[in-house]
Amino acid sequence: MDFLAADSLPWLGESQERIRRAAAAGRLPHSMLLLSAAGLGAENLGHWIAAFALCESAGRPCGACPSCLLLRADNHPDLNVLRVDEDARQIKVDQVRGLIESLELKSYRGGYKVGVIEGAEALNANGANAFLKTLEEPTQNTLLIMIATPSHRLPATIASRCLRIGVRTPSPEAARSWLSTHASSAAPAASWDSALMLAGGAPLLAAQLDPQRVRTLDEEMRASMERLTANSVDVTVLAEHWAKSDPALRLAWLENWITGRVYAGLGIADSVETAERTRLPAALLKPKIRGLFELLDALREFRRFASTGMNQQLALEALLLGGRAALAK
Ligand SMILES: [Zn+2]
Repeated sequence: MDFLAADSLPWLGESQERIRRAAAAGRLPHSMLLLSAAGLGAENLGHWIAAFALCESAGRPCGACPSCLLLRADNHPDLNVLRVDEDARQIKVDQVRGLIESLELKSYRGGYKVGVIEGAEALNANGANAFLKTLEEPTQNTLLIMIATPSHRLPATIASRCLRIGVRTPSPEAARSWLSTHASSAAPAASWDSALMLAGGAPLLAAQLDPQRVRTLDEEMRASMERLTANSVDVTVLAEHWAKSDPALRLAWLENWITGRVYAGLGIADSVETAERTRLPAALLKPKIRGLFELLDALREFRRFASTGMNQQLALEALLLGGRAALAK
């Protein structure tokens, strides 16, 4: 993981400054929990903090001292990185034990011992609780950095013992201007709006999209939803088409679109960020909005399990049928 890249992600600057200040005051904590949505570079920040602790030079992390060079070669003996195995859903307790043991060993280069856990929400309760002793009785010069999404379900006994660092989504203006100078697609700043919407405002996710293609998809999806609402489309054909071409992007688009409908129905302004917070008691809602909420729940459930080998086309068809009913109400 490229820790130097953190310096080119301006929205991480505040967190970097916080670490520098804590270290200058001699209060660099032994454990941190970085809370971030996907696509904001929280992993880059986590590895930047690891490099900050391990760097052996001034102006750390310098990128050039023996420790930084070992980090850049992914070969530093005092850094241990944990993430979920590709074929697994959880971080295994054995992996956790390995990390804890490595933190207890003497440092090879005489400085810090650092553990980074990427995707810490993939720790199960046993795995997470195995860290309790490490967190309660940290040994000198150890640093544990966990990275998780804000909706993680890590046990409070663990999360509360870490310094929490929240990575905030940059403003749309800041994200657009970063994309226009850093993304590989050479597109003017304004053309990134749709891609940013689909990416939930996360610049690193938006950067992987082609703004032109996103705009075409946007137009096509709008037309499809009009036809679905008017009941003038064959749901089976539409589901087949979606399943074959960019299903994940279409589902992200649909979530935004339904969220927009919900806001319009509630008479509040549209916002990507507040989507998760709009949880109102169902009894208070008009039937139409309640239907949209149910659709939103079904869609989120679908997105969560979309990669687990279910029959996408059949599931999409069911979702579209539910959508048609909710929109017609
Ligand atoms: Zn260095």
